[in-house]
Amino acid sequence: MSERDEIAVVGAGLAGCLLACYLARRGYRVALYERRPDPRTGKVERGRSINLALSERGIDALRRIDLDERVLADALPMRGRMIHPVSGEQQFQSYSVSGDRAINSISRGALNNALLDAAAALPGVRIAFDHRLVGLDPTTGELTFETPQGKVVETAPVVLGADGAGSAVRGQLLGYGVLTESLDFLDYGYKELAIPPVGGEFALDPGALHIWPRGTSMMIALPNPDRSFTCTLFWPTHGTASFASLGSPAAIEQHFAEHYPDLIPLAPNLVDDYQHNPVGVLGTVRCAPWQVDGRVALVGDAAHAIVPFYGQGANCAFEDVVELDRCLDECADEWAAALPLYQARRQENAEAIARMALANFVEMRDKVASPLFRAGKRIEHALERALPGRYVSRYEMVSFSTTPYAEVRRRVRRQHQLVGVAAAGAAALLAGAIGALIGRGRRG
Ligand SMILES: Cc1cc2nc3c(=O)[nH]c(=O)nc-3n(C[C@H](O)[C@H](O)[C@H](O)COP(=O)(O)OP(=O)(O)OC[C@H]3O[C@@H](n4cnc5c(N)ncnc54)[C@H](O)[C@@H]3O)c2cc1C
Repeated sequence: MSERDEIAVVGAGLAGCLLACYLARRGYRVALYERRPDPRTGKVERGRSINLALSERGIDALRRIDLDERVLADALPMRGRMIHPVSGEQQFQSYSVSGDRAINSISRGALNNALLDAAAALPGVRIAFDHRLVGLDPTTGELTFETPQGKVVETAPVVLGADGAGSAVRGQLLGYGVLTESLDFLDYGYKELAIPPVGGEFALDPGALHIWPRGTSMMIALPNPDRSFTCTLFWPTHGTASFASLGSPAAIEQHFAEHYPDLIPLAPNLVDDYQHNPVGVLGTVRCAPWQVDGRVALVGDAAHAIVPFYGQGANCAFEDVVELDRCLDECADEWAAALPLYQARRQENAEAIARMALANFVEMRDKVASPLFRAGKRIEHALERALPGRYVSRYEMVSFSTTPYAEVRRRVRRQHQLVGVAAAGAAALLAGAIGALIGRGRRG
């Protein structure tokens, strides 16, 4: 590759901007193409603010290029879940055994803007906004964009698609027959509501991620630096008690009064938000391969969009960037070797978090409310205290470590087997002791 050739990164979202920073640090010139206008100069689309839980994997990726402190300055730590039952007291459940580990609430827009600033400040990075990719020839690296000035054609020796769940790069590879994909949408959608500050203060505890588990559906709320909360409803799209079944102001008010009574006094614009904010779709994207001929590759949601219930989509996308950087190191920047290696290392991890994220939906919307679940968590934390470093909960490994996701699943399975064996042993001992006592009683 000649020094004057630019690597093309399509999509200046979270993964694309971070990727541009990492590549520029390696000495590459990078052209970052984004279909939107510069978001730093515009307004957030109504109901699409999305605040993310940023955890260790994402922070690790930022730390490696000294961006962690800048980004975390806009974030609020959440040390556990605050459960809101339909009636009764709120209950706090700590995320970590020590109680002091936190995931961080941050606005996706603020994070994206911080990363855009960081990328734009690097001399090797050129950002082209209002460039929507509409064509890609994977054999030549020719890219076609629609822009307000008309069609623009560029060529790049390496093309990296970081253009999100509906990736146009993936679509182009599909069109050339060099990739297959599967899209699994849930029968659930999401909608945002807002809880404004009360008297200039947070209306709820800002140190927690708030959950209203309601069996087949749920609402969550994350704090914002302006002391408001963004709530997200995760509800079925159709059927009874779904987005489709609730339309009139009276029905909306009645539904919330019945199922989310503590929200009513906190959300003065509830009906307006509900009626006007859009319903987003939720699903899992899988595709293979993630790279073609060591020349075109997919990164982040473009390769593996997942449902948001483990708060890991962006964290996982950032890990992709770290791994790609590591592969370039190990392959002496030979892209034809680095891209297949990147795919080989990341694919099973993306699949592992996709599965864990789906399973966590059931935990969040249903199980967290049950006394049995809370007792299980207490036992889990007791085991973590009794066996430090040997028993570590799944949540702790996913959110507070960089243990590969696939290894997390394997380790959790081993731990459960061990606890199962120990419990069976304890039960056998107990049964033996009871048997001996009964025997003694009969004899005596
Ligand atoms: C409700 C919700 C809650 C979430 N919560 C969390 C959470 O708590 N923690 C977490 O880690 N993740 C969370 N996520 C997931 C997270 O938002 C995504 O995983 C993350 O944004 C992926 O980053 P990305 O850069 O791959 O894609 P995106 O952020 O989608 O960026 C893609 C970029 O490509 C651009 N683009 C698209 N098409 C084209 C084109 N044709 N040409 C040029 N540019 C194009 C887009 O405009 C965009 O800027 C959540 C997602 C949702 C929906």
